[in-house]
Amino acid sequence: MSRSAHPAGPRHADVLPEGHYFAPPADLNALDPKVWAHTVGRNADGVVAVGGIDVKALAEQFGTPAYFIDEADFRARARAWRTAFGPGADVFYAGKAFLSRAVVRWLYEEGLNLDVCSGGELATALSGGMPADRIAFHGNNKSTEEITRAIESGVGRIVLDSFQEIVRVAHIASSLRRRQRVQIRVTVGVEAHTHEFIATAHEDQKFGIPLADGQAAEAVRRALQLEGLEVIGIHSHIGSQIFDMSGFEVAAHRVVGLLKDIRDEHGIELPEIDLGGGLGIAYTSDDDPREPHEIAKALTEIVSRECEAARLRTPRISVEPGRAIVGPTAFTLYEVGTIKPLDGLRTYVSVDGGMSDNIRTALYDADYSVALVSRTSDAEPMLVRVVGKHCESGDIVVRDAFLPADLAPGDLLAVPATGAYCRSMASNYNHVLRPPVVAVNDGEARVIVRRETQEDLLRLDVG
Ligand SMILES: *Cc1c(COP(=O)(O)O)cnc(C)c1O
Repeated sequence: MSRSAHPAGPRHADVLPEGHYFAPPADLNALDPKVWAHTVGRNADGVVAVGGIDVKALAEQFGTPAYFIDEADFRARARAWRTAFGPGADVFYAGKAFLSRAVVRWLYEEGLNLDVCSGGELATALSGGMPADRIAFHGNNKSTEEITRAIESGVGRIVLDSFQEIVRVAHIASSLRRRQRVQIRVTVGVEAHTHEFIATAHEDQKFGIPLADGQAAEAVRRALQLEGLEVIGIHSHIGSQIFDMSGFEVAAHRVVGLLKDIRDEHGIELPEIDLGGGLGIAYTSDDDPREPHEIAKALTEIVSRECEAARLRTPRISVEPGRAIVGPTAFTLYEVGTIKPLDGLRTYVSVDGGMSDNIRTALYDADYSVALVSRTSDAEPMLVRVVGKHCESGDIVVRDAFLPADLAPGDLLAVPATGAYCRSMASNYNHVLRPPVVAVNDGEARVIVRRETQEDLLRLDVG
């Protein structure tokens, strides 16, 4: 059950009703390794450190709010995915989760490929040194410029999303005298969310070409006739923050069904299938994500089994984790500004960031955890809502959490698991300056995306 289904609640832990859905943790100073990056821990003096540097030193040097990314953890997770799938499959990191040139270099060095879905992401990928043939280009409305740039730079694949785009990409490729490797994105009628999925015939969303009514088969038929395209496979992405693998099972079954129809009609076996991303991470202690090796084993088995039943050669598999690699590797560090107890309800704790650096709570009703990280405390737990500084009552960072009752302005709070879809979705709402991303590794901290300045803001405003 989502905590946010219970918006109201008593302020102090000792008045929570028995068996309440949301009890205070036994130890407010404990850091659950499930939701924190690998190298995060408390020093002997009680201050939390990452990569060997404590958060007070980090706040002093880089200011707050700021994102701190544990480089060793990022590399370890990327490597775990790579190793789990082995040389017979490809792992494409979904750049939209968080992309910077440093991250591109880490991915390159760890042997991963990269998904982009805009000209800006493509430029970052190329500028960061990712070889173009390891880049896949996505999106449901790629511009002519974006397609041209992608083909000219030699991207490994373009994922085609509509009938118009099939013709458009073929035309641009032909006029550049290229033959572009493409996959066709299909919607298989599986809507997957966290712990359940719905299998339907039709899917009401903007991405891909429906399998239903023979539409995907028709798309393949047309693409195969176009000289500018080399059709290498079928792509399916079923959702995000998924824990239950059974949605992938239905998706793979349906995609393999299409591969079989293609073989029967055209006499060709497409060599690749992409099963997308969407694997869940732990935002709170309630979440139990799977390890990459379990996911790899499950997906590989599903595809082999389906192909065997259809008497098809097993295609090369690719996957596209974004959140599952970068999400857990970073936290956002905030300073407490004001504390406002509302008697009988809860205490509002305002921090120096908010919906401009983490829109996910407002946008998706996402759950996050939070901890006091600049010291330990023996005080009683109090029920809090951590909010930002924006002119919007929906500006919530953590809807319900417990923090020590002696919390005071100037204390540092950290929200873990903010590596994915926080900086990449950050905005300048209220002309707030977007926070920096600092990579911490082995006693060294380095800015990889600098803090925005008022000059940056005013540079765009031409008066
Ligand atoms: C968003 C997206 C992903 C990554 O999703 P995560 O939830 O971050 O793993 C992968 N593939 C496609 C096509 C996507 O749109």
